[in-house]
Amino acid sequence: MNKLFQALVPLALAAAAVSAGAQDFPGSKPITLIVPFAAGGPTDRVARDLAEALRKPLGATVVVDNAAGAGGSIGANKVAKAPADGYTLLVHHIGMATMPTLVRNIPFKVETDFEYVGMINDVPMTLIGKPSLPANNYKELVAWINANKGKINLGNAGVGSASHLCGMLFQSALGVDMTAVPYKGTGPAMTDLIGGQIDLMCDQTTNTTAQIEGKKVKAFAVTSPKRLSTAALKDLPTMQEMGVKDFSVSIFHGLYAPKGTPAPVLKKLNDALKVALKDPDFVKKQEGLGAVVVTDKRVEPAEHKKFVQAEINKWSPLIKAANVYVE
Ligand code: ASP
Repeated sequence: MNKLFQALVPLALAAAAVSAGAQDFPGSKPITLIVPFAAGGPTDRVARDLAEALRKPLGATVVVDNAAGAGGSIGANKVAKAPADGYTLLVHHIGMATMPTLVRNIPFKVETDFEYVGMINDVPMTLIGKPSLPANNYKELVAWINANKGKINLGNAGVGSASHLCGMLFQSALGVDMTAVPYKGTGPAMTDLIGGQIDLMCDQTTNTTAQIEGKKVKAFAVTSPKRLSTAALKDLPTMQEMGVKDFSVSIFHGLYAPKGTPAPVLKKLNDALKVALKDPDFVKKQEGLGAVVVTDKRVEPAEHKKFVQAEINKWSPLIKAANVYVE
């Protein structure tokens, strides 16, 4: 054997082992969906529904693990650094597009540390308040805010989260500063809002619809450009109708794998995602909570990546102009 051949043999064997592993994927090993927020919130909810819908097409056990904290960057970083074998995936939201501008020095790169598996859904947000708030509609809410400047608490899921972004834009639009109360996710923040420990919050309809319907919280507006059709939300005005110019926040959720995950594994994951997104149970659960399951080309990895890049380009100047980023 010449020297070059001797050097190439181990490399060829290693490559064969990787592709054999990829062919067998997922085998009998469970797949973990990392949720970068606490249990009980909207990202957790979509991940748990998705895990259920993925089990059949993948023929594997799919579990959810909450790696919450730092506005969703702890969980994202965990997946960025995980083995690129398809067994550790990330379900994340618009934070993938806003974190790079909202928060400086995140320990991973959204553009280069992940494989984009496909998008899951689009979800509008709602502006909600504790049940004991004296305001009963948006105009009364603004009057109450103006009368209570310096005393108002606004819950969020940490710097860089969707609720943080929405809350910052709301304060900037009103020209009022509120005290941010960070949680590991809006699941626990919702418990405190219902209990009256915090005054206000902005959150995805997937976490707020049932609470609004059950009158556990007060709802003031939706962040979508048009009113929503869901029964519990259809009477809520849009922020734009209420005079907050250009206020439009829609949260998307997507599925990601660590950079370098083999192509055959990514293909299997994407094929399974496409089946899951058509699962009638999954669609019913999501739509009942005001979410729109992705049926367009953004379910393709390249289009998912293009969409996130477009969202980065869209949000970066808006975040900078509204002066709402955190050093
Ligand atoms: N809705 C949260 C956010 O503000 C995250 C979550 O708990 O899912 O980003």
